[in-house]
Amino acid sequence: MPVNVLFSARPALWPVYEPLLTKGLTEAGLDFRLSTDFEPDQVDYVVYAPNGGLLDFTPYTRLKAVLSLWAGVEKIAGNETLTVPLARMVDHGLTQGMIEWVVGHVLRYHLGMDQHITVQDGVWAPDAPPLATERRVCVLGLGALGEAVSCALAALNFDVTGWSRSTKEIAGITCLHGADGLHAALSQAEIVVLLLPDTPATTNTLNTETLALLPNGARIINPGRGPLIDDEALLGALNSGQVDHATLDVFRVEPLPADHPYWRHPNVTVTPHIASETRPATAAQVICDNIRRGEEGEPFLHLVDRDLGY
Ligand code: NDP
Repeated sequence: MPVNVLFSARPALWPVYEPLLTKGLTEAGLDFRLSTDFEPDQVDYVVYAPNGGLLDFTPYTRLKAVLSLWAGVEKIAGNETLTVPLARMVDHGLTQGMIEWVVGHVLRYHLGMDQHITVQDGVWAPDAPPLATERRVCVLGLGALGEAVSCALAALNFDVTGWSRSTKEIAGITCLHGADGLHAALSQAEIVVLLLPDTPATTNTLNTETLALLPNGARIINPGRGPLIDDEALLGALNSGQVDHATLDVFRVEPLPADHPYWRHPNVTVTPHIASETRPATAAQVICDNIRRGEEGEPFLHLVDRDLGY
């Protein structure tokens, strides 16, 4: 009997993924059918993104796994109709994109690029930036993306501290965890990068109390998720100068409403959730490998811990 793979994501992605998944599943030696439209009780695997509109998995009685095209799974991790394994996306292309975006924005702050772009008033005031060795960057989250970003920054000689839920050892990175670890990490962070998932435990990780731990004039870069930051607290910290500038890619409500104060704040850069994205060519390989694993009785890769929410 063929393996039936339902593609439930943004319809515009189907023509992109259909040939890639066909190639990958063929190379895996599987007898399969791939469609955007199966009877629910015929589906073995769902290739999933929230904007495909699938909410109720109850009728999917022979489902073996849901394979997310997104790295962030906050929109599905708590879905009680889903009782089979859920795998999230860990994609080389997505990781590379995130490294490039974060490193670019860290370098913007580190080198003071805006100062020389916006102030061209004839004043010759040489003030060379310090070397990266003297710049302390803190990365909150040391998962697939946070670790890769931390290592890329460390390779440029930044002084990198990372923070995670569990203990870690990563060469070249000072790894901290737990509440005390967050306190220590933020207390000396000139630039903070948020790469945590959106879970009940990470909501408002940056709030009035934790923002106050930062050295005066710190900079914040958030490509993680909007709820990681208490927006009112951040606006307060920006207005007082405690935080000098924030670059925000993700928001509680997306698209960011036109009247949101972040749009008008002179010390905020808003980007429209473009830090990185799943790259079909590499992501399709990850999906096909997981389907092959499922069919050959091997453990799935990148499984979500539904209790932790990531
Ligand atoms: P992972 O699941 O691999 O890593 C998550 C990290 O966060 C882990 O290090 C984990 O700790 C840590 N963490 C989770 N909960 C806590 C907690 N309560 N306290 C401290 N640390 C915690 O995720 P990824 O690295 O793949 O992705 C991170 C996030 O990036 C995604 O969830 C998504 O929201 C966002 N993203 C944004 C994109 C964009 O374009 N803006 C694109 C792709 C992803 P531990 O290692 O101990 O488990």
